[in-house]
Amino acid sequence: MSLALTFLSSLCYRCKVLVVGGGAGGCSVAWRLHRKLGDKDIILIEPSTVHYYQPLFTLIGAGIKAFPQSQRPFKSLVPPRVMWLKDQVDEFDPCNNIVHTQCGYRVRYEVMVIGVGLKNDYDKHCTKCWCCIQQFDGGHAVFTFPKEVGKCSGAAQKIMYLAHDYWSQRKVHPRTNITYVTPKDALFGIPKYARALNKIALNRNIAVNHHLELVEVKSRAAVFRGSNGQTVTLPYNFLHVTPPMSPPACLTKCSELIDDGYLDVHKYTLQHKCYPNVYGIGDCLNTPNSKTAAAVAQQSGIVAQNVWNTMYGRPPTAKYDGYGACPILTSYKAGIIAEFKYGGTVCETLPVDQVVNVL
Ligand SMILES: Cc1cc2nc3c(=O)[nH]c(=O)nc-3n(C[C@H](O)[C@H](O)[C@H](O)COP(=O)(O)OP(=O)(O)OC[C@H]3O[C@@H](n4cnc5c(N)ncnc54)[C@H](O)[C@@H]3O)c2cc1C
Repeated sequence: MSLALTFLSSLCYRCKVLVVGGGAGGCSVAWRLHRKLGDKDIILIEPSTVHYYQPLFTLIGAGIKAFPQSQRPFKSLVPPRVMWLKDQVDEFDPCNNIVHTQCGYRVRYEVMVIGVGLKNDYDKHCTKCWCCIQQFDGGHAVFTFPKEVGKCSGAAQKIMYLAHDYWSQRKVHPRTNITYVTPKDALFGIPKYARALNKIALNRNIAVNHHLELVEVKSRAAVFRGSNGQTVTLPYNFLHVTPPMSPPACLTKCSELIDDGYLDVHKYTLQHKCYPNVYGIGDCLNTPNSKTAAAVAQQSGIVAQNVWNTMYGRPPTAKYDGYGACPILTSYKAGIIAEFKYGGTVCETLPVDQVVNVL
């Protein structure tokens, strides 16, 4: 195979496969493809020098893991023969197969995989969360869930159950009321797991308020808006907010690539609906699966196979079934594992009923 990466001028690169975003999804696709392609046929654009393993953030918030355990130097994750461009995409130009970067490069590709995730700054807050849980001395503890689709829908409850367990062990719980507030009409999108979580919340005297969205945080009160426009104010002594999340601006400003703000791909092949040489992976997609690392792990095999097919003029035949998994710790010693596919079909992989606090 010829050397496909060509440094055309001081401001232009060319490659066979361009991967935008070196998070869980981008790295995993690059690893799957690097053996099949030649030296520097793949360019991976990622601005950060540190990779954060986000599923650990909840455990850091609950004091189970230390923050440095979630970090790896990004360069240690770049596959051999893949060129890492430490930069970020500013603009996509899918009609011309080019992206423009913040440092002023143009990168021309044959096939592109977009895995830019969702915007968040959790890494700055998870250590603070653990300090606040430890310092809390009773009162009203409020945990919120956002209206928008976000990463790992179970994370907001996980941290609540862990805080409840910690406060119970420290005897803070008898002088504590816990409230969970969500704009949704259920604790989880799949009825089997929603029923199990309802039972857990009920047994622990956790008050669950549905159809309320957090709209303002004051110094001792959180303001929520109801589905019919009414405002509800809850005083708090401890507030844990799961913020709204959305894809980064490079994507949301490219109207040709998105639908309702997310990358518009076919839900089975993960190929873009208008640009057949563009694929997507992970949290930035508009597919109706849960946004989890478990979903990314399944998607990466599908995307790698379909990218390969596209490069050789074949139709994308590999199909993603919507698999996602969400381990929800319900205490420091127990948890349930939700596993499901498109359509809310439960597909558990352990030989036990996974709602019976299996962890
Ligand atoms: C608190 C928390 C708890 C979680 N718990 C779990 C769990 O228990 N189980 C589970 O399976 N999943 C969990 N997840 C979800 C999981 O971490 C994500 O679904 C997964 O990381 C998504 O991978 P991604 O590649 O789509 O996005 P990310 O891993 O976020 O990567 C996106 C990458 O794109 C880069 N990027 C952004 N903009 C640009 C640009 N313009 N140009 C180039 N690069 C760009 C970013 O720097 C980043 O490296 C959790 C997430 C959080 C936040």
